[in-house]
Amino acid sequence: MAGRLFRIRGLVQGVGFRPHVWRLAQELGLDGWVRNDGDGVIAAVNGENWPKFAMLLRDEAPRLARIDTVEITEFAGTLPAGFAIVESEAGAVRTAIGPDAAICPACIADICNPAGRRWRYALTTCTHCGPRYTVSHGIPYDRALTSMAAFPLCPICNDEYTAPSDRRFHAETTCCPDCGPQLRLLDVAGQSLAGDPLAETLRLLRAGQIVAIKGLGGFHLACDARNAGAVAELRRRKQREAKPFAVMGLNSISLASLARIGEDELALLRDVAAPIVLCPKAGQALPGVAPGLAWLGVMLPATPLHLLLWHEAAG
Ligand SMILES: [Zn+2]
Ligand SMILES: [Zn+2]
Repeated sequence: MAGRLFRIRGLVQGVGFRPHVWRLAQELGLDGWVRNDGDGVIAAVNGENWPKFAMLLRDEAPRLARIDTVEITEFAGTLPAGFAIVESEAGAVRTAIGPDAAICPACIADICNPAGRRWRYALTTCTHCGPRYTVSHGIPYDRALTSMAAFPLCPICNDEYTAPSDRRFHAETTCCPDCGPQLRLLDVAGQSLAGDPLAETLRLLRAGQIVAIKGLGGFHLACDARNAGAVAELRRRKQREAKPFAVMGLNSISLASLARIGEDELALLRDVAAPIVLCPKAGQALPGVAPGLAWLGVMLPATPLHLLLWHEAAG
């Protein structure tokens, strides 16, 4: 039986697409190979399940992938038994840099698992989430050209990075508490404050202080939105008399008393871009947050750091 050659174009590099193809081939008992090239991803497969492969290629595509076209042609060459991820020819690939993406459900599970090695680790990422554009210095998208270059992978992270079955296969920003950056809380003079940075940040916010929290592409100046005095102080320091502030909540349930979130708004909130979504205000008022407006901008935590803070604030 003749093999099939799949030519996939779109945003398919640096998003876990080759492991996706590899996993499908394993599940469907297909032989062949997959690799990146200058046009996207190319895969040669052989086996009777190839029509199902063609369907699942799109239906189960990775979270950050965008498939523009799939061309299927007959493959004349012979394919050895088994399925392999083949290295691209040097210089053949110019992997584009994707946008930053909000933390994925699997990484949320990692940082919330007390038995896991990434428990409460605020820099957790994988191929389905995390910073990309923000941490890149140049193309192609490769760890050596990101701000993670200064943090060599530990042996366990390296095993994940090189295992096609792992969702951190070629995850350029992956790291762990042993090999990645450490969280710090600094005072206004730039001196590290003692104590657990997450717990200490929450203590300051609860005491009405303003904290700058590093996120994707910049800092959030944060205070307790329910504390009118803290909100007023933030306005004074920002010299922002009335322009509305947005409110971050752990989830749509914790925002329900503040904003009326419909199905469409919920889908937007959960998008990988993690936007601020404008919703009609609900019953609970937040003095000074969005004065004189019937609408409130709300958002969900987009980074592991924000998620951990809001998660632990909720108790
Ligand atoms: Zn992830
Ligand atoms: Zn590590």
